[in-house]
Amino acid sequence: MKYILANWKMYLREFEQAALCRRANLIKYDAKKLRLVLCPSHFALPYAKNFVKKPNEYGAQNFFWESRGAFTGEASPQDLTDFKCHYVIIGHSERRTLLNETDGMVRKKVAAALSAKLTPILCVGETLDERNSGHALERVREELREDLKGLTAEEIKRIIVAYEPVWAIGAGQPIAPTEAVEMHRRIRETIGEIVHGAVPQAVIYGGSVDAKNVRDFIIAEGVDGCLVGGASTKFDSLKQIVDIVQKYS
Ligand code: PEP
Repeated sequence: MKYILANWKMYLREFEQAALCRRANLIKYDAKKLRLVLCPSHFALPYAKNFVKKPNEYGAQNFFWESRGAFTGEASPQDLTDFKCHYVIIGHSERRTLLNETDGMVRKKVAAALSAKLTPILCVGETLDERNSGHALERVREELREDLKGLTAEEIKRIIVAYEPVWAIGAGQPIAPTEAVEMHRRIRETIGEIVHGAVPQAVIYGGSVDAKNVRDFIIAEGVDGCLVGGASTKFDSLKQIVDIVQKYS
């Protein structure tokens, strides 16, 4: 099974998100081979609920770990399930970097998502400095150790891990697929060490994936799909990506 997770970030206006939720239903693919998950902004989730039709699925880009209370500006796990979300992105590097989201916060979100029966899409990845100084693996291992602390193998089976090198996000230049293969292998190995024998639902790659390069990742060993930002925000490009994944998976 391959995954294409579309992270629309804050790129689109309300009417554009509504239209893309609708138009994405025109993209045809074999749901036994591929899952297409749209992640609009919170305020567009009502459109997702009304317009996204099976086999397409959808999720949120963020949430808060508490179930209810005085948390100004936040959305609870139940708010997402009320909108029939099945997925939630957690620990995206834009949140870790711009909003100081820590591994401790990410861990609480992963646990809260699992309790609410949402599929966490846990993002991990190194900065350019960490890669250039030979510390990429160490950084990713540290994030996995911290973010997955205390979980059982059964819980880890319900998590999608997105390997997203911070320096490749929105950069127009993805990592070399061979490097992605190696990191994906090490991610699986690390998770199996953290919780003996644990295997995540999927390990996907994210960072400047588009219709020109998605094939290289889809055919790469151990890459179960892609988290796509910018290139998922236009219908034609999203359709091309799905068509290519469908063809090569
Ligand atoms: C992302 O937002 O997770 C991402 C990978 O963005 P982009 O595809 O634009 O690099």
